[in-house]
Amino acid sequence: MSKPKVKVAFFDFASCEGCQIELTNLGDTVFLGLLEHIEIVEFREVMKETTSQRIDIAFIEGSFTREADRPRLESIRARANVVVAYGSCAATGGINALKNHQTDYREFVYGKDAEMPHLDSFQAQPISAAIQVDLAIPGCPIDQAEFARIVSDVLHGKAPTVPNYPVCVECKLRETVCRYQSGDHCLGLVARAGCGAPCPADGVPCEACRGMVDSPNQPALLQVLMEKGGLSQLRAETKSRLWTARFRNEE
Ligand code: SF4
Ligand code: SF4
Ligand code: SF4
Repeated sequence: MSKPKVKVAFFDFASCEGCQIELTNLGDTVFLGLLEHIEIVEFREVMKETTSQRIDIAFIEGSFTREADRPRLESIRARANVVVAYGSCAATGGINALKNHQTDYREFVYGKDAEMPHLDSFQAQPISAAIQVDLAIPGCPIDQAEFARIVSDVLHGKAPTVPNYPVCVECKLRETVCRYQSGDHCLGLVARAGCGAPCPADGVPCEACRGMVDSPNQPALLQVLMEKGGLSQLRAETKSRLWTARFRNEE
């Protein structure tokens, strides 16, 4: 008798949904291969069905930005065996957390409509601020190969891991010339690896879209950005928190 397929669902909160879209770009070979082992029961980018049943793996995209989302997050947690924070918005607050450092963002974006009730939100937080999360896959968007590896690990009962070393390691492994050699700047020194360092290989600096490694040496990063990358202190500070902004009161 064949094994029952693993039930997988995708849910989105405050996000651009780019991480879900990225999955639809996996390509027939990988995607159809995955479908031999998993059954997708909710994924609004590609299907209209939803589920209120138990789920084996729930991939949650987007940040926790309003109290109104807590019951839905808790419902997903209660129904799922494994909850994965899917993409940087869900894993760390992601680029949404930039608003945590501004006070007038609603007026700036929405003008006279800024007071509309559905725009009422608090500081952007990772979903782990609301519910227990078993694993976080960072990336803006997620890396397809890393996603496929992590799903494979879960299906085989292996504990999936995400690297805790900097992008520089992967950059060196693919023999990319360092951006600093071209008078550029780069955050790869402290950015969390796992993406394969595609940005420096394409001639652009790493912006740490996957967040930073645990315990990054941020003073040293700022020093390098200023002394070697030629950035002003203000630009070095704002650049270094583009995808890694946390809470205003942490500064
Ligand atoms: S992590 Fe990036 S690509 Fe993914 S949902 Fe958030 S903003 Fe979009
Ligand atoms: S280009 Fe960036 S990621 Fe690559 S080695 Fe230099 S600092 Fe590190
Ligand atoms: S190289 Fe940096 S910016 Fe590019 S995908 Fe990797 S972590 Fe993100």
